[in-house]
Amino acid sequence: MKTRIILLFAGILAVAVPLRSQSYSYKAPLYAELAPGAIRPEGWLLRQLQIMRDGTSGHLDEVYAKVSNSNGWLGGTGDGWEETPYWLDGAVPLAYLLNDPVLKAKVQRYIDWTLEHQRPTGYFGPLTKTEREGMTLTLANPKDGEDWWPKMVMLKVMQQYYQATGDKRVIPFLQKYFAYQLAVLKECPLGQWTEWAVSRGSENILVAQWLYGITHDPSLLELAALVESQAFPWSLWLGNRDWVIHAAAYQDEADWMHRHGVNVGMALKAPALNYQRTGDARFLSGQKTGINDLLTLHGLPMGIFSADEDLHGNNPEQGTELCALVETMYSLEQTIAVTGDVQYMDALEKMTFNALPTQTTDDYNAKQYFQIANQVQVKRGVFTFSLPFSRQMTNVFGMRSGYTCCLANMHQGWTKFATHLWYATPEGGLAALEYAPCTVEVKLGERLVSIAERTDYPFDDKIIFTIKCDKPAAFPLQLRIPSWCTGAEWDINGSETGKDTGGKLITLNRTWKNGDVLTIRLPMNIRITQWGRNSRAVERGPLVYALKLGERWEKGTEPTEGEYWSVFPTGPWNFGLPQSVIKDPAARIEVRKAVPLAPDFVWNAAHAPVELVTTGKRIPEWKIVNDVAPIPQTDRHGLFKGAVSDSTETITLIPYGFTKVRIVAFPIVP
Ligand SMILES: [Zn+2]
Repeated sequence: MKTRIILLFAGILAVAVPLRSQSYSYKAPLYAELAPGAIRPEGWLLRQLQIMRDGTSGHLDEVYAKVSNSNGWLGGTGDGWEETPYWLDGAVPLAYLLNDPVLKAKVQRYIDWTLEHQRPTGYFGPLTKTEREGMTLTLANPKDGEDWWPKMVMLKVMQQYYQATGDKRVIPFLQKYFAYQLAVLKECPLGQWTEWAVSRGSENILVAQWLYGITHDPSLLELAALVESQAFPWSLWLGNRDWVIHAAAYQDEADWMHRHGVNVGMALKAPALNYQRTGDARFLSGQKTGINDLLTLHGLPMGIFSADEDLHGNNPEQGTELCALVETMYSLEQTIAVTGDVQYMDALEKMTFNALPTQTTDDYNAKQYFQIANQVQVKRGVFTFSLPFSRQMTNVFGMRSGYTCCLANMHQGWTKFATHLWYATPEGGLAALEYAPCTVEVKLGERLVSIAERTDYPFDDKIIFTIKCDKPAAFPLQLRIPSWCTGAEWDINGSETGKDTGGKLITLNRTWKNGDVLTIRLPMNIRITQWGRNSRAVERGPLVYALKLGERWEKGTEPTEGEYWSVFPTGPWNFGLPQSVIKDPAARIEVRKAVPLAPDFVWNAAHAPVELVTTGKRIPEWKIVNDVAPIPQTDRHGLFKGAVSDSTETITLIPYGFTKVRIVAFPIVP
């Protein structure tokens, strides 16, 4: 009886007490991150990272003036805002994932300068205007400091650098800075200089709470709570549906920072961080409500929400900024660690294998500021973006086109995905929560254990784990069965078989011996999913498929933003999918695979390792309007009732990530 009363009271509390109450009951993340060097990418993922190292990611300090010329983060008078920390945020894990001495040395300069030039108060970063004029920053004049926001990114850089190296300077550096923040934030709040810092407080909270996990200094939780109280209340907004509905209805100037896609991407982890600090599970239910609402009202078939720059509804002709995508990935990687929730693991994988690869060029030297789901051309234009920019360069592929945040920030997408393939479990084991070819090597208790993960996943359904250990080692090994998988099967050394359905984690708890081989198969069935304006997409396993089109690339130059590329299709794109295909996709769509992957694998149409062959019918009146291809009006069944070509044509679909021009969301035709 007593329990019931308490539960009832808790229920009332859930309504009455705002989710900003600050009592601490710290919950360590369910899964612990591994050091960036513990996971060695292999196969296609290694090649992707090597391409990045050889492209802009590895050379931004040479080819991009803001990061190179007398950079503020090297003590110079040049740029001292967000772009250098952004670059390091991806370049540091890249250097340690590849164990690349050249890139390690490059990033070390910026890290060393930052560590060595921390002020006695704890303040850090580029010299401020007043310091250049000869003044000293003390606790008495914190308003002579500069923007909190770029420092938040640098905190994440330091965290990763410490995880990779254990450099003893990092922890005292962070302690000192957080003590400084705690001392001055009341007088000099997050919003002192920019609204970016107010929008993105979770980045600050993340590192303070990570440090608490090491030092258990309660002042760090106090600081995290103070930052949360000054930042946008994203946890409240995500759990309270007005925010996401308002963002779907309005694209005006009022409150645009609340709808800014990159802010939203970063904010998605805020409830998990608040749960971590307070132990209040309402944060997690609010997070789930918020993410599900976001992906319903603004979701696109490639697994990300529209953000061109603002949230912009679920029409397949909307776009997404590359920064919004990579920040959302990172938020999910952190949320997975805190919650262990399979839904977020599946969501991360979907956006990584579909949305991410398409937005950069093969050599990783150019990117699109905005990609579009149904992208029938890549060119200059206004399109239907919430922020077209006056030079109309947001959709083309360029190094400096659009806004350059993405140029500096895009590297964290693949690198942090690679560092979050595996996590350590609380029971002293390992968990493969995302799949890609790699080897993980860690100490589990007294045993040095390495697990080689051989696979062509996400293009093939088989993953083989080979265990190496100096002596037999008892530990739990956890594997994710994605929610799309209806019948996973596994065996250990050809026996000890098991099977299960998707949407869960399985735990194999045994004494592992050197040479043990665990094989898991995740059969990938074709399924049809529904998207904006009653369109349909074809999915198979973790990949969504788009119409394969020939590409004509055209080079141009814009005086301010430099060289860029437009891409046009060489054939017709205005196909609908016949009802017969939608009703029985397994019978009407043929799967053609080309695995193992070619050694020169790259995410482009020529290298697509899986093709789906089916039929389509053209809709002659489906044409480009205002640069995009608005989905024709269909009935409740998604059926287009207008004129359709009499002839049925064979069409080929390839994974979305390999396309530059495409249709992914199709109308249905008779
Ligand atoms: Zn950006």
